[in-house]
Amino acid sequence: MLSLYHRIQKIESLQKTVDKEVRQCKSHTGIECLQHCAHCCSYEDITASPAEFLPFAWHAWRLGLLDQWFDELDKHDGTTCAFARLSEGAWGCRIYPARGLICRLFGFSATTDKNGKALFAACHTLRQHKPELVESVNGYLGRGGKIPVIARYYQQLSAIEPALGREMLPINQAIKKAIEIIYFHFSYRECA
Ligand code: SF4
Repeated sequence: MLSLYHRIQKIESLQKTVDKEVRQCKSHTGIECLQHCAHCCSYEDITASPAEFLPFAWHAWRLGLLDQWFDELDKHDGTTCAFARLSEGAWGCRIYPARGLICRLFGFSATTDKNGKALFAACHTLRQHKPELVESVNGYLGRGGKIPVIARYYQQLSAIEPALGREMLPINQAIKKAIEIIYFHFSYRECA
């Protein structure tokens, strides 16, 4: 079995591939989030797997921020993501470069029909306010354009982290679990 470090590298590489496919789709279709939207991060029922936040926790440890992030998650009162900034003048994700797979996929990905054909899973906001952009993505897919398919990426994540990759938890619990795994990994190494 690969070491934790090498599995985390593989998860990061998966995230980079998602980002690349999303960039391609955006550049071919012009689709973009509305300015200062962050609506998707304000959902109360986001689920994620601890595996997709292992890179975040690993980098937090390297930067000496693991305890701080854990305390913030612990104190966070509510079911929205603890890292979402949703107030006027302070929008967005506080851990954007290390955000999870679902954060990268949401709004710019597809499900599939029974024949395996990609179906754009547009977010509610874009469907409502920018239907022409949603149509432009549908046209792009019809011409054979690529967009990340959610289930395929989670399959790949599970292939890297068989147990953790399949475990879907409320997002704050998933991040906390990833932090605990990294914490115990390094505590054990220091004691060994
Ligand atoms: S980690 Fe960042 S991108 Fe993901 S839901 Fe939380 S605030 Fe949004």
